[in-house]
Amino acid sequence: ATPMSIMVGVGRGASVGVLIRNAEALERLEKVDTLVFDKTGTLTLGKPSVSAVTGTTMSEAEVLRLAASLERGSEHPIATAILEAARARNVPLADVSDFESPAGRGVAGTTEGKHVVLGNARFLAERGITVAAQPDTEATTVLLGVDGTHAGSISVSDPIKETAPTALATLRGDGLRLVMLTGDNRRTAEAVARQLGLTEIEAEVLPEDKARIVQRLRSEGRIVAMAGDGINDAPALAAADVGIAMGSGTDIAIESAGITLAKGELSGIVRARRLSQATMRNIR
Ligand code: ADP
Ligand code: MG
Repeated sequence: ATPMSIMVGVGRGASVGVLIRNAEALERLEKVDTLVFDKTGTLTLGKPSVSAVTGTTMSEAEVLRLAASLERGSEHPIATAILEAARARNVPLADVSDFESPAGRGVAGTTEGKHVVLGNARFLAERGITVAAQPDTEATTVLLGVDGTHAGSISVSDPIKETAPTALATLRGDGLRLVMLTGDNRRTAEAVARQLGLTEIEAEVLPEDKARIVQRLRSEGRIVAMAGDGINDAPALAAADVGIAMGSGTDIAIESAGITLAKGELSGIVRARRLSQATMRNIR
């Protein structure tokens, strides 16, 4: 590729919020036939809020208090939502010791002499806690275990980005294969997929498996772009032919990607593809 055309492409991209870190990303994008999306923060706003709190063995306020006390140690968007709900309801927080936050699972620690576990069903099961009834909802449900017993649940909902349906419809119309990956539960994943017309989804994926799925698609001969925003997405962004980070995302995602969409708008992927096609046409 001639450096001049590439420079022009990079400059045009920058003026519309498509930040191109390396020339290879711009050159390869037109050849991409498969787009893999992370869900939370990429297809959805990534700013969830608490929609319901239920207590099974304790009051709702107590569920929120224990959950928020633990989440003080986490930077996950779910933690932000739970802390915000506790603040809004003036729930006082407790100190936590032995804090841990295993990726893709949740948080745990000891507070007021109780051992508290908060996270998804997989995490509670791993800690030997049997979950009785779960709320019947399409929201993400976070489960609270206290001293080995399921004590309550918190539902957290995260709406899709306003521009996502149009951008995905355009990409699908261009003939791209679209795949969604998420660590979230299957039911929530399916609800988001339905709103976006996505049929190929993998839910309850552990962070380390996102990169493996990208590699598997590549080994099947696909040319893959991965779009993501989180620390968890960084290995998958690096494993793809083209990594696309949301500008609203974490620094480590941005550093792992060849392209960053300044405002995190998915329409930027459509723009970036057009830019890649125009640039490569100029070169040939
Ligand atoms: P993704 O960003 O793809 O949705 P993550 O791997 O970050 O997924 O998280 C997967 C799941 O693990 C979440 O949907 C949630 O159920 C649980 N989880 C992760 N971190 C936390 C946390 N700090 N508090 C509660 N649950 C969590
Ligand atoms: Mg994400």
